Amino acid sequence: MSPAGRTPALSSRLPQVGLTIFSVMSALAQQHGAVNLGQGFPDFGCDARLLDAVNQAMRSGHNQYAPMAGVMALREGIAEKIATLYGRHYDPEREITITAGATQAILTAVMAVVQPGDEVILLDPCFDSYAPNVALAGGIAVHVPLTPGSFAPDFDRIAQALSPRTRLIIVNTPHNPSGTVWSAADMQRLTELLRPTEVLVIGDEVYEHMVYDGVPHQSIARWPELAARSFVGSSFGKTYHVTGWKVGYVAAPAALTAEFRKVHQFNVFAVNTPVQHGLAAYLRDPQPHLRLAAFYQRKRDLFAEGLRSTRLLLLPSVGTYFQCADYSGLTDEDDTAFCERLTREIGVAAIPMSAFYATPVQQGLIRFCFAKEEATLNLALERLRLL
Ligand code: GLN
Repeated sequence: MSPAGRTPALSSRLPQVGLTIFSVMSALAQQHGAVNLGQGFPDFGCDARLLDAVNQAMRSGHNQYAPMAGVMALREGIAEKIATLYGRHYDPEREITITAGATQAILTAVMAVVQPGDEVILLDPCFDSYAPNVALAGGIAVHVPLTPGSFAPDFDRIAQALSPRTRLIIVNTPHNPSGTVWSAADMQRLTELLRPTEVLVIGDEVYEHMVYDGVPHQSIARWPELAARSFVGSSFGKTYHVTGWKVGYVAAPAALTAEFRKVHQFNVFAVNTPVQHGLAAYLRDPQPHLRLAAFYQRKRDLFAEGLRSTRLLLLPSVGTYFQCADYSGLTDEDDTAFCERLTREIGVAAIPMSAFYATPVQQGLIRFCFAKEEATLNLALERLRLL
């Protein structure tokens, strides 16, 4: 035994979990000097007006704890945005909470409502934090696949998965990683399916302003029956190109918000004050979020057009800043091995689709992030043509 003593043996709360694929691929990209189209984040800066607004907030003394639920001016701005875009009025006092990003929002919502033994329906592929969140709450993740190929929700299978123990379903639209979005008909089906149940919903809508080709974002907030049983979350990091600021929010009916805040106050207590004030000032202008879809649609089009001159096959990307591609015509390597080789030998990092499944399925698919400068996308395309 070392003189410093022995660390007591642990039994892991998350025995199956390693480092997230996003951290793994970003590290590999850095190690090999690869263009990083793996982890989803922009490689360009945010609007200088937003930086000025945060700076101004710091200089004018907004540097102590914010109110636990968030700076009121920001909550009011969010309520107004949601009312304008989706027609539902959330009370900023009792129904909107500012969070340290959407990942914290989702964990907090899960911890607030899932009791040990409760079942939570997850639609695979899904973001990699959901299942560990359910495990931490002592819940049981019930994995239901999205329709292979189209990634549309399969309501027959969701219906089969519902049980008297189902407490929650997590819905993500626009969808990471597939780039698909839920239609009005999908929301209608979900409404009908849940009507006779006590099932709650978490709507992960962090890509709400990135929907292309004139398709509307079907926020849960548009659907009164669903909204009455839902936490709807979004993220300023995605919308304003500041993923490192880690500020998001959750809108939910007062009874759900009350439980959410019980967990939130002992989890983060409150979120970064000057950033909240800066965001509140910046959010008064709707143009940045209204113009985001056109901004990213140009990048999607440039990247998709370039990919057509490679040996990869494109899947549709209707929302998010992700583009999936099929490499199965090139090799029968599994997707993780392919992404590692792509990073090392071709110099482009991507994310293997299997990372988003509880039981990895090999479909020959990888996910690229196109939230990059044109020069970055062009360099990646030049390299991908060598495949
Ligand atoms: N949401 C981002 C993605 O899917 C990554 C977030 C993270 O790294 N945790 O790439």
